[in-house]
Amino acid sequence: MEISYLRISVTDKCNLKCFYCRPENMEFIPYQEILRYEEIGRLVRFLSKYGLKKVRITGGEPLVRPQIERLVEILADIPQIEDISMTTNGITLSQHAEKLKKAGLKRVNISIDSLKPELFYQITKGRLEDVLEGVKIAKKVGLNPIKVNAVIIRGLNEEEVLDFVEFGIEYGVEVRFIEMMPLGQGSIRWEQEMVKPLDQVKEKIEEKFGELISITSIGSGAARVYEIPSYKTKVGFITPMSNPFCDGCSKLRLTAEGSIKLCLRTDEEIPIKDVLRNGSDEELDEFIRKVLIAKEISNLKIQKSNYSFSDCVRVMTSIGG
Ligand code: SAM
Repeated sequence: MEISYLRISVTDKCNLKCFYCRPENMEFIPYQEILRYEEIGRLVRFLSKYGLKKVRITGGEPLVRPQIERLVEILADIPQIEDISMTTNGITLSQHAEKLKKAGLKRVNISIDSLKPELFYQITKGRLEDVLEGVKIAKKVGLNPIKVNAVIIRGLNEEEVLDFVEFGIEYGVEVRFIEMMPLGQGSIRWEQEMVKPLDQVKEKIEEKFGELISITSIGSGAARVYEIPSYKTKVGFITPMSNPFCDGCSKLRLTAEGSIKLCLRTDEEIPIKDVLRNGSDEELDEFIRKVLIAKEISNLKIQKSNYSFSDCVRVMTSIGG
């Protein structure tokens, strides 16, 4: 099987505390256990022989890891890698955007769960204005297209859906609405009532802005993407709960401490750090072929489990989204 996409988590630390993402008393991975940038580069180089073309850097919060632009440079040096992107909370993006762009980062996804400063603070414990500054500077230095990710939570930000669309029009960004996933049942309180099915969100947008035209294409990843014709603005919907998009998945995740996570819906992981650190090229190659077989088997198991999340105890901040 080919692997087209790798999400690389570079740290489990974050400068925000989103209540649904990060447990209160999280224990962080010790520094020496975290993969070095060169080790990540080695893995990406090998995976590029098996079809890898797109990588996304994530966290925790990727911008809290020192000199993150060095990783971008290492990845940009691998000829097969066509697309290097980052998912960030944007809090310090205004300070990093220019050097990231110079290092070879193509584009960013910025997470914003509310456009109201007080509610934003309630959800994240951070300042919305810092993030909005990040969006502006990212746009200015050309980290385009910018996508804004908003997890829609029933009873909290669901009333802001139309404001998000207006925001997308005003800032020239694509807003992607995300259904909350029941990860980390072991450590944070999960409430099923918080999930807002996004077909209702889509209907609400259509009532105000007219019919959305599907423009989902290969490369849109998990999102179903639409255009609002009168504004030439795009909106996306990521619906892991109400409409899973797992068939034919060729995405892998790398955790900060060096395990390959085959799928968000299970805690099944394959530790790869040892062979990355100490293995010969032949050993690493052999290992990667085993990972690809495991991914195929995992895809089948997930299909059989009816796309359940029941096995997932790890929280998102230690996976990377
Ligand atoms: N710190 C970065 C950020 O905020 O974008 C990257 C990591 S964060 C884990 C990536 C994304 O996962 C964020 O958009 C966050 O809202 C989303 N996320 C976290 N927990 C989630 C959950 N249980 N369901 C759906 N999305 C979740």
